[in-house]
Amino acid sequence: MRVPRTGSRSRPIAILLLAAIYAAGASVGQLLAIPPGNVTAYFPASGIALAGILLGGRKLWPGVWLGSFLVNTWAIFDTTSFARTATTTLVGATIGMGATIEALAAARVFPPWDRDAGLPLARVLDVARFTALSGLGCSITSATMGTTSLFAGSLITTTDYAETWLTWWLGDAVGILVITPLVLACVQPRWWSFQGRGAEIALHQVALFAFQMYLVAGTLADRGAHCPLGHFITPFLVWAGVRLGPLGAALAVFNVSVFATLGTEHGAPPFVRGTRNESLLFVQAFVGDMALTTQVLAAVITERRRAEWALSRSRDELDRRVAERTAALTESEERYRVLVEVSPDATLLEKLDTDGVLRIVYANAAAAPLFGVTSAAELIGRSVFDFVLAEREDIAHRGVMSALEHGNLGPVDGWVARADGTAVEVEIMLARVPRGGKRALLAIYRDITRRKQIEEERAALYREAEESIRARDEFLSIASHELKTPLTALSLKLQALARSLPADPEVAAKIAPALDVALRQTKRLNTLVDELLDVSRITQGRMELCLDDEIDLFAVVEDVVQRMQDTAARAGCELRLGGDATIVGCWDRSRVEQVLINLLSNAIKYGAKAPIDVRVRDEGASVSFSVTDRGIGIPAEDQARIFDRFERAVSVRHFGGFGLGLWIARRIVEALGGTILVESAPGEGATFTVTLPRARA
Ligand code: ADP
Repeated sequence: MRVPRTGSRSRPIAILLLAAIYAAGASVGQLLAIPPGNVTAYFPASGIALAGILLGGRKLWPGVWLGSFLVNTWAIFDTTSFARTATTTLVGATIGMGATIEALAAARVFPPWDRDAGLPLARVLDVARFTALSGLGCSITSATMGTTSLFAGSLITTTDYAETWLTWWLGDAVGILVITPLVLACVQPRWWSFQGRGAEIALHQVALFAFQMYLVAGTLADRGAHCPLGHFITPFLVWAGVRLGPLGAALAVFNVSVFATLGTEHGAPPFVRGTRNESLLFVQAFVGDMALTTQVLAAVITERRRAEWALSRSRDELDRRVAERTAALTESEERYRVLVEVSPDATLLEKLDTDGVLRIVYANAAAAPLFGVTSAAELIGRSVFDFVLAEREDIAHRGVMSALEHGNLGPVDGWVARADGTAVEVEIMLARVPRGGKRALLAIYRDITRRKQIEEERAALYREAEESIRARDEFLSIASHELKTPLTALSLKLQALARSLPADPEVAAKIAPALDVALRQTKRLNTLVDELLDVSRITQGRMELCLDDEIDLFAVVEDVVQRMQDTAARAGCELRLGGDATIVGCWDRSRVEQVLINLLSNAIKYGAKAPIDVRVRDEGASVSFSVTDRGIGIPAEDQARIFDRFERAVSVRHFGGFGLGLWIARRIVEALGGTILVESAPGEGATFTVTLPRARA
């Protein structure tokens, strides 16, 4: 229990309470008072005052003063005259001040203690300090002020002074030494000082009480007889000091002090002397002595018990932590063990032994089949190099050394020479074991037979695909060359036929449309074959560029637009040209024309009979031309791939074509150092923009 310091609201009550208890204690003491100054050789109130200040705080001092003032003034109050009344009141007030100063000073020099965790006076040095300073030292102030004021108030004479002072001093000192520890121990017991000893303390008190009753009653019956039984008090005090802690000791001291005082009062030996006060002084000297001895003993034992308690607590704490840590370690070890154990990769722990041989000290279950043994246990103790192919020993040795030196190696591909003589291809990872120094490695082997198979299968497929593409390109190249010759002859013949139409207009009118169709289809066929020829030229790296002398890009574009007007018109499209007229530079005219024809053909084909705009722009360091149609447009996800070979974003049923025009255009533009881009959205047409660096002659 901790007694709270009093707050300002409850303080008046606490002060009055202290005053009342003080007065009660003082009244008990005064039963033993000696005339003329009414000074007592046993003054419990001084102990009560100190305990009150220690527990309730310095601000309770008015309680001490009030209690002392009331009791003392009452004892010496003289109403015979006003002067006597005033004098005795003043003397009472001064005695009160002495008692207050004594309590405050004794509290100030009282050995400090941790109010939450500990018991006061639980150490030998504390008891010594308390006895010397609080008990014997501070009582001097009260004794001196009290005796002097009695003397000044003519309540004692010079001859009484010394004895009164001594009685006062001893009475207060014993009061402090006996009562303060008792109150503090009652209010702040600690389990390690008396836990489980409550019954024993009670038994001890009863036994002590009974024994003293027997002693006092017996000796009183045989007044004056020497009683050796008195010596047997010591075992009781030792019992209290050794076993019952500060509370038991304080109770025992109090118990004995009461009996010794009362017994002496009634004339029981061994403290009875010539006068009553002399006897009381003698008994108080004994009480003080006994209090010191018993409390020191109790403090020694308590100190030891507290140390033992702290030790056992820290041992328990240590045990608990060790248990916790062990459980955590076991759990984590179990977790890792399971992880390693069930790993599909062969996992080995390898250690360099004293002969410099790297031996296997642990192998998981997956290691057995990989190393060609029936159980992992068979691997333990074997040298790692037993499983290395003879021709790869050097590489393996260098790998191990590098891992031990640098901390890890891999993953690298290697081989395991299995116990059954076969070999398996593996991926190996080595890691130096932390805290194993440069002597231990964790090795993980992964069987990569399947991976290698897949890689080989993939490589074969890739080779096959490459071969098919090469065959296709070769076929296209041959086919286009073979087609070109008869096609050229055919179109020449058709052109000749068109020039030599019969003179008869009727016959001519009949033949002309069919001839016209034949010529257009031949032209279209020619374009397709040219595309195929271009493809084989480009794939074989045979595309030739021929940079003309200065040309006017606008004029070139205008010329192409003019030539395409008819085709566009037949498809229902109007071709419109705009932009910066006259842009002079050096470009490959026929290639620029080819790119523009491709873009315009597409715009006409996919342009949904809507007008098509061609714009030419001079951008300083570069020039550009763009073709914008208002046709079907291209979905965003197709815009990149349409520039690749044979890639189309429309179905062949609706629009004919090889999917080569844009690829050829891109390759030409790239060869000219430029770029080609498309901006489009489905249903909103498309704009193809070609940007070329400006080149000057
Ligand atoms: P082709 O026109 O012979 O199919 P291209 O390489 O010229 O081949 O074009 C590739 C594809 O790009 C076309 O199939 C078509 O889907 C799309 N495309 C090209 N130009 C346009 C355009 N102006 N509008 C809509 N789609 C186009």
